[in-house]
Amino acid sequence: MTALDIGANNLVACTTTTGEQYLYEGRELFQRFRETTREIAQLQSKLRERRYSSKRIRRLYRKRTRRRDHAQEALCRDLLERLYTEGVDTVYVGGLTDVLETHWSVETNAKTHNFWAFKQFTERLACTAEEYGISVEVRSEAWTSQECPQCGSTDRTTRHRDTLTCPCGFEAHADLTASATFLKRHQNSSSSGLRTRHDVSRQRQTKQAVRPMARPVRLEWDSHDWLEVSHSHRPKEQRTDPSTVHRDGNVASGES
Ligand SMILES: [Zn+2]
Repeated sequence: MTALDIGANNLVACTTTTGEQYLYEGRELFQRFRETTREIAQLQSKLRERRYSSKRIRRLYRKRTRRRDHAQEALCRDLLERLYTEGVDTVYVGGLTDVLETHWSVETNAKTHNFWAFKQFTERLACTAEEYGISVEVRSEAWTSQECPQCGSTDRTTRHRDTLTCPCGFEAHADLTASATFLKRHQNSSSSGLRTRHDVSRQRQTKQAVRPMARPVRLEWDSHDWLEVSHSHRPKEQRTDPSTVHRDGNVASGES
């Protein structure tokens, strides 16, 4: 079983009952989406009276959509491939956590919905999941992204950027925490979520609370693929350091 939290800064934060966590970074994509949106707005302001679009504007819209769809499709594929390998059979989707934060303006909100196209993403995920025999269930009803997994408090926690902190001493990545809380909630209300039902010891594990987490796998979009970043807390420049040539190198080289 696995739970996804969907947002704009982190497109997908995912926690599985097997103790894996995946984080798909969205900042750069969102940045580019906003740049193209600004470009469109500028062109629109220069249009002659009574014209509402132009060939160039339509081309920019198409480009913006294509870029998003490409990243979305690749994300679904990458994630489901991983979940399939993990033996996950159900994916719970909840979210737009950071989008629904109170400090987001209505305007930003609309743009973000437009950007990630939540409904389209969920449909795409469900379609791709079918190929893997994995079912997708959307559960965006009452669950809070602000809940502290340590003490259960929801009103004392604070979120600053990607970090959720609580006076009880808890501090962790907000979206990953949200997906873990989300998972725990669904785990308590349903039975085993693993395909290998004959495996008794494994089944017993799934009935316990979510297992201690492995180090989260972070992924960044390079316009073609989602690549694993092993030290994303370091500034980007450092990742180009020739002495550390491994998979990170691909990410640092960026657009190609
Ligand atoms: Zn707490």
